[in-house]
Amino acid sequence: MLSPRLKPYFNIRETLALLNPFNKFGAIKRFEKAFAKLFENKYATMFAHGRTGMYALFKVWGLKDAEIICPAYTCVVVQHAIVLSGNKPVFVDSAKDSWNMDYDLLEKAITPQTRCVVVTHLFGYPMDVNRVDKIVKKSEEKFGHKIYQLQDCAHSYGAKWENEMVTKVGDAAIFGLNISKIMSAIFSGMITTNHAQTDELLKAFRKENSKGNRFVKSIHRTLYYFAIRITFLPITYTITNWLEQKGYLDRFVKYYDNDKIYFPKDWDSPPTNTEAAVGLINISKYHRVIELRRKNTDFYYKYFEKNNDIKFLDQVKGATYSHCVALVENRNAWVEKYHKKGIQLGILIEYAVPEMDAYKKYKTSEYPVAQYYSKHTINFPNYPGLRNVDKKKIQ
Ligand SMILES: *Cc1c(COP(=O)(O)O)cnc(C)c1O
Repeated sequence: MLSPRLKPYFNIRETLALLNPFNKFGAIKRFEKAFAKLFENKYATMFAHGRTGMYALFKVWGLKDAEIICPAYTCVVVQHAIVLSGNKPVFVDSAKDSWNMDYDLLEKAITPQTRCVVVTHLFGYPMDVNRVDKIVKKSEEKFGHKIYQLQDCAHSYGAKWENEMVTKVGDAAIFGLNISKIMSAIFSGMITTNHAQTDELLKAFRKENSKGNRFVKSIHRTLYYFAIRITFLPITYTITNWLEQKGYLDRFVKYYDNDKIYFPKDWDSPPTNTEAAVGLINISKYHRVIELRRKNTDFYYKYFEKNNDIKFLDQVKGATYSHCVALVENRNAWVEKYHKKGIQLGILIEYAVPEMDAYKKYKTSEYPVAQYYSKHTINFPNYPGLRNVDKKKIQ
């Protein structure tokens, strides 16, 4: 049987929360409160997706025709939010020794038109947020206007830089809560901030712009939850994988098109109490989840330590490891080899965003490191439910 490359950490507790109507009462508010507390910000606002929250932020901050700095190597939904909100992405290549943006290139990318920097902590590896803050403050002084810092924590969930959560620095943080993330509320996303006014504006924006029926969406999400639970049963997953390889599941698993800038149809739907009730249970497992992810990641680093065919970047203190990622020359060979052993390896971000057809017009230089990563990364399953028997298959 096949061990999946990812697996949401749901059990009977989420199912019970979902089925009990009393749990849903006021769940969004309670979820937001617990979420803000866990990630050490004062406020949180839940949206249909993380990208919806990001779009809303750019709107309430009044960013229009502005340059927004972002990594060349990241999940393309970030750039979709930038463009669809009426702004322009400015790409920064990754550093050679990190999954994240190169600090010197970041500094050079700031111009008088820059109004925001998306500080992404990819795969859970934190950036030096203090160094970014210094770079941004220097530019603010030089250009005489505010430059927002948005921590993209969709992968990093509570990652720390020098013992402080990255959410302490900057103006707001974005989190994604679909089933592929460290924490999940079926779908949805969260924006956290310490600024009362930003939070008020976000909640007002959500109220004015949410479309669609909450009740119908709740039913859809409930069905989706059970479908997911069934999909990830060991027996079903083997079949699911076969369907996926044949391309029958593209509609469900493919989240991008090379030549389109778009949001999903339900992007502006209201968040539901159903999802919040599940999310509330899921985030209560946070500390245990991170501990297990770190343990599993340590296992791979150690196991491959002396193998010259695979390269892991240095571990960073405070990283939360949404994915355990490594670089290899021929990744298809790795995927095949491990598939035979019963382990599904993931290939996560198969593009450098400025090289995608939809984004070529925003490309202003070359992004060799992002290009390289986009062709050579693989990731090993490191979710909490990974058992020792799964790890044995690796060897
Ligand atoms: C998933 C993700 C997001 C946003 O998530 P959605 O909820 O899917 O919109 C943002 N940034 C990164 C790096 C992500 O991986």
